[in-house]
Amino acid sequence: MTQETGGFAALDLHPSIVAAVLATGYEEPSAIQQQSIPIILAGHDMIGQAQTGTGKTAAFALPILNRIDPSKREPQALILAPTRELALQVATAFETYAKQMPGVTVVAVYGGAPMGPQLKAIRNGAQIVVATPGRLCDHLRRDEKVLATVNHLVLDEADEMLKLGFMDDLEVIFKAMPESRQTVLFSATLPASIRAIAERHLREPKHVKIQSKTQTVTAIEQAHLMVHADQKVSAVLRLLEVEEFDALIAFVRTKQATLDLASALEAKGYKAAALNGDIAQNQRERVIDSLKDGRLDIVVATDVAARGLDVPRITHVFNVDMPYDPESYVHRIGRTGRAGREGRALLLVTPRERRMLQVIERVTGQKVAEVRLPNAQAVLDARIKKLTNSLAPLVAEAESTHGDLLDRLTADIGCSPRALAAALLRKATNGQALTLEAVEKEQPLVPTYTPRERTGGDRPERGERERRAPMPLAEGRARCRTALGARDGIAAKNLLGAILNEGGLAREAIGRIQVRDSFSLVELPEEGLERLLAKLKDTRVAGKQLKLRRYRED
Ligand code: ADP
Ligand code: MG
Repeated sequence: MTQETGGFAALDLHPSIVAAVLATGYEEPSAIQQQSIPIILAGHDMIGQAQTGTGKTAAFALPILNRIDPSKREPQALILAPTRELALQVATAFETYAKQMPGVTVVAVYGGAPMGPQLKAIRNGAQIVVATPGRLCDHLRRDEKVLATVNHLVLDEADEMLKLGFMDDLEVIFKAMPESRQTVLFSATLPASIRAIAERHLREPKHVKIQSKTQTVTAIEQAHLMVHADQKVSAVLRLLEVEEFDALIAFVRTKQATLDLASALEAKGYKAAALNGDIAQNQRERVIDSLKDGRLDIVVATDVAARGLDVPRITHVFNVDMPYDPESYVHRIGRTGRAGREGRALLLVTPRERRMLQVIERVTGQKVAEVRLPNAQAVLDARIKKLTNSLAPLVAEAESTHGDLLDRLTADIGCSPRALAAALLRKATNGQALTLEAVEKEQPLVPTYTPRERTGGDRPERGERERRAPMPLAEGRARCRTALGARDGIAAKNLLGAILNEGGLAREAIGRIQVRDSFSLVELPEEGLERLLAKLKDTRVAGKQLKLRRYRED
């Protein structure tokens, strides 16, 4: 019996927690769980470094549940997560693991939902609060005492929180909690900004580091395809013909691209939907639920909208647009191959993105093999295989259920069984092209290129760049403008310095800075932008007022 319950039972967790975990189907603790749980149970501060998909949630949720007192109806543990999606996901995980602990309640606190019910749930005695930093600070402004009883703090995906510009909010939150609390920090990466936080706010933290690259990435088969930017949709449609997927997530960079690709897929009969930051929260949850239960098979998403998305059905990740950095690549492809399943990740690479492919290969320590676009023969073979697979299981029974009808129809029509079967096939395939000639005629030409095709391959690049609108803005960022430019003696580093000093942002929170002759553009975090601009109201650069304003380009 103890053998069967395996490692979880050996971890000194309360039996009701072990039972709930086993009931969810987990058999063994993952590496990060194995190492973190005893440390957190013992009350130490901790820094945990592990990549996505390694099971960090249970690594902190289980020992934290063990350490709270369900009979006390007051907040005892606070989990901070970078986005609503993640906060909700963590809250749901806590609820699952606490299923057999009567009296434990969890509240999720995030922006975009009314504040009243959240505050009420906290005051009604939720012991676990899972929050995004921005919204939690809003609550603190109304009631600075809400965190006074919290003695366990977890920062989940700390690097993401800093990237989103939550540095200041974190400081406010730290101050609102008892100093004697236990603090645990989880992050995929440990840049200097995170180490500085740990230095200031953690006490003699124990370090746990899981080298999980192999674990996360080896279950995922990766490939890339060279294609020109304006041919991506056709390439995706062709690839979908031959890839045998269950559910698939396609990543693009902009909201518009999620809509465009999703409707192109729908037009071809796929059950597809877009997922982006503009879509209302409840609608987003519906999309994810539909993907989970098979009402949808393809979701076209931006990075922010899909962060933390956990749908075991996902067998394929298509990187239709290149990720911004290798970390997001690892995050994205971590949406498949969940919990030890196998997955496949495909990356479309345009001529000017070849360098990024090399960076990804270097950082992940793996070669991403090149594949070619399937030709008409491959498409035809795949279509026939699908048809075969759909008919084969029917053959055994159909003769007894429909054999007599076949006899009657051949007699009535006066044709051979072969002719009748052919007519039925034509009907069943709805006029789909099923000869090589027809497929060739139907498939649009998709010019791809190889890295060696120097001349021909590179030429469309320039035209492509000319047609492009201004660089698209990363989601979660806003573009701001100042009337100070090069003619005022301004350089990008002056602007950066002023905003860092006066605004108190982390370097990662500030995006591109473009200095033109008579003005400059700066990308800043959308979250808390009004507050930031107010803070910068009197800032001067090179002796002149900065007067930074939100900039709308349309
Ligand atoms: P991370 O936060 O590290 O990205 P999650 O905590 O979201 O990872 O876990 C990833 C997936 O693995 C989830 O679907 C989770 O339910 C599952 N999982 C976590 N721990 C285990 C375990 N011990 N056994 C099986 N599945 C697990
Ligand atoms: Mg996580």
